[in-house]
Amino acid sequence: MSLSRRCFNLSFLAAAACRSVDAIAAGPEPTPGLDLPSDPEVVVPVVKPDAEWKLLLDADTYHVVREKGTERAFTGRYWNNHAKGTYVCSGCNLHLFDDPDKFESGTGWPSFTRPTKPDRVAVNRDVTYGMVREEVVCARCGGHLGHVFDDGPAPTGQRYCMNSASLVFKPGPPPR
Ligand SMILES: [Zn+2]
Repeated sequence: MSLSRRCFNLSFLAAAACRSVDAIAAGPEPTPGLDLPSDPEVVVPVVKPDAEWKLLLDADTYHVVREKGTERAFTGRYWNNHAKGTYVCSGCNLHLFDDPDKFESGTGWPSFTRPTKPDRVAVNRDVTYGMVREEVVCARCGGHLGHVFDDGPAPTGQRYCMNSASLVFKPGPPPR
């Protein structure tokens, strides 16, 4: 890329950023990239163009969360995490799971018996790879989290088999 072309691109980006700030000041139109909810307890839809997710997320997280990828078993950051705290969505910060509901599934993926509240996740039928599975997505940003199966322990009998890449752990006292 020539220097002049690069300068043009940079000035274009700067102009776009200025327009975004103006749009916020002016009101109603939401501005992609600057509108992530900071409250992890509020379920409001977060919709972004794919190009923006690519900028916000690292490559591995983007692949799992936006392209429905699956990290290899026993490689994620949380499958063996036993610390006290909560798990939020790596895409939009929505509070999804709590450590008291995490259990040792032996699968190599972080597994939970339930989300912190039923409205935090949505379930879609997934028929890829010759299987019928229940895909779990974030209720706020639609990001892929993993799958849910009916072979979990009490009290729900469900196993929310999640990707570590879809979660961010927030250490702290038990939430309940
Ligand atoms: Zn999310």
